[in-house]
Amino acid sequence: MPTPAARIQTLNIPDLTPFFSSGIIDPIKFLNTLFDEAVKVRASDIFFEPTKNSLLVRAKVDGVLYEIGSLTLDSYQQVASRIKVMAELDPSEKRKVQEGKINLDKDGVIVNLRVEVANTINGELIVIRIHEKKTIVMPLEELGFSQVAYKNYLNMLSQRSGLILVVGPTGCGKTTTLYSTISKLNEGSVFNIMTIEDPVEFALDGVNQMQVQKETGFTFAQGLKTLLRLSPDVVLVGEIRDKETADIAVESGLTGQLVLSTLHAEDSVGALFRLLDLDIETYLLNSSLMGIVAQRLIRKICTSCKESVTIGKDEADLFQKAVGRPPRQLFTSKGCEYCASLGFKGRMGIYEVLVINSKIRELLRNQVTETDLREKLIREGYDTLLRDGLLKAEAGLTTVDEVLRNSLRIS
Ligand SMILES: [Zn+2]
Repeated sequence: MPTPAARIQTLNIPDLTPFFSSGIIDPIKFLNTLFDEAVKVRASDIFFEPTKNSLLVRAKVDGVLYEIGSLTLDSYQQVASRIKVMAELDPSEKRKVQEGKINLDKDGVIVNLRVEVANTINGELIVIRIHEKKTIVMPLEELGFSQVAYKNYLNMLSQRSGLILVVGPTGCGKTTTLYSTISKLNEGSVFNIMTIEDPVEFALDGVNQMQVQKETGFTFAQGLKTLLRLSPDVVLVGEIRDKETADIAVESGLTGQLVLSTLHAEDSVGALFRLLDLDIETYLLNSSLMGIVAQRLIRKICTSCKESVTIGKDEADLFQKAVGRPPRQLFTSKGCEYCASLGFKGRMGIYEVLVINSKIRELLRNQVTETDLREKLIREGYDTLLRDGLLKAEAGLTTVDEVLRNSLRIS
C-alpha cells in the first residue's frame, strides 16, 4: 500500500532563488516577492524559523508544509525588522509574543496577513497567516459531496428540526461546510437563523451571529441558552466541547429547531459514541440526532499536468477492500507552471454522511459497540471517507496517496 511521504517537500520559487543564494538581501524586495508568490500559490501560512546557523523559510499550501529556502542570520535581522515595521510592532520587544496585521493590496483585492512574533532559543520565530476571506463561503453543492451524500444531507436539512453534526479533526473544513449550509438555508430568507461562534469567522448577511466571550462567562452553553429564547428556526453552535453544551444541543433539537454543530471526532460513528461518552441518554440521542457528516480536506490534482498511471497491485487491493472492485483508472501529476510544481491545486472535501435511521436507532437501543456498528455499516456498503476519497481518485479529482495521507481508517 502506498504510504504518505514523511520527508519535507520543497516549493521551488525561481524568483526567490537569488535572495537565498546571496548573503545580503534587500528585505523590501524579498518580502514583496515572497508575499506575491505566497498569494499566487494560495499559501495559508509563511513561517520564518530560526535555527542555530540560518533561518528556514517555509510555507503551508493546501495543508502541506513546504520548504522555500534559507537565509543567513544577518539578512534575517533585516527581514524581521521590515516585517515588524509593516505590521506596526515594537522592534525592541524581545520577551512577549507580539501580534500585528499587514494589509496587502493585490490587484485591488485586499489580502490580510496576521503576523505573530515569538522568541525561541535560536531567535525570533515569525508566523504569518494569510487570510483570504472571500474563499470561506462556497456554494454547498461545490464542496465535494458525492451525489448520494449530497442528497442525504439535503434530506436531513429539510426535516427542519433535530441535531445535525459535522465532524472531523481541526482544519478539515467543518466551518466551511457549516457556513455553506447556513447560506443555503438562508436563501429566500424564510428562516430566523442564529449562531454562537468562537470566533465569528465570517459575517453572513441576514444571519444573527453571536460570539463566545469567555471573560464574561458567555460560553457556547450560555450562548445557546440565550439564543434559544429568541425563537430561532435554525441554530448554529460552533462546537460541542462539553457535556453542558451537548445536553442543550440535543434537547433543543427536540423542540422544533434545526441545530447544527461540530464535534472533534475521527469519523461519523466515532462522533456518535463521543456523545454517548458524554452521558447523553440513548433515547434522547435517538429522538434528536438526525445525522452526522464526517469530513476531510484533500488536495485536488492539477488539471493541467495530471496523467493516468498504471494501476499497481496495492491500489487494486485497496480498492477491492474499500470499494468492492478494482479501480478503472488512476492518475498522478508531476507538477507544472500552473500548479507551481506542486502537482495539486486547491482542495475539496471528502465526506461520509451517516443518516440516523430506524435501523441505527434500534442498534443503539440494543447497545451496539462502536466497533460493531462501524463494521456493520461497512459490510452493508456504507460510503466511508476512504471509499468517497478513492472514488474521487478514480474520477481523476485527486490521487490515492493524497487520500491515504489524510490518515483514514482503513477497516
Ligand atoms: Zn500542474
